[in-house]
Amino acid sequence: MIVPQPCARCGNEIPAERIEALPETMVCVACSKEMGGEFTVVTSAEKTSKEGSLKKNYGGYSARKIRKPIKPKGSE
Ligand SMILES: [Zn+2]
Repeated sequence: MIVPQPCARCGNEIPAERIEALPETMVCVACSKEMGGEFTVVTSAEKTSKEGSLKKNYGGYSARKIRKPIKPKGSE
């Protein structure tokens, strides 16, 4: 069972449906919009072979989600 949590930014309750859809969330929908999204996605190329190696590089890209700092509403 999902328990609604208070928003880390404004203190309003985050609806259970939002937590269910996005378990990592710490802010409500309104705050997420005001912040321009709760997370920043950073992609970086992965190096798997050494320089000069004859091995083919099968490296791909890795994406990391970084949570933006959450400041209390009104202090920004
Ligand atoms: Zn909020």
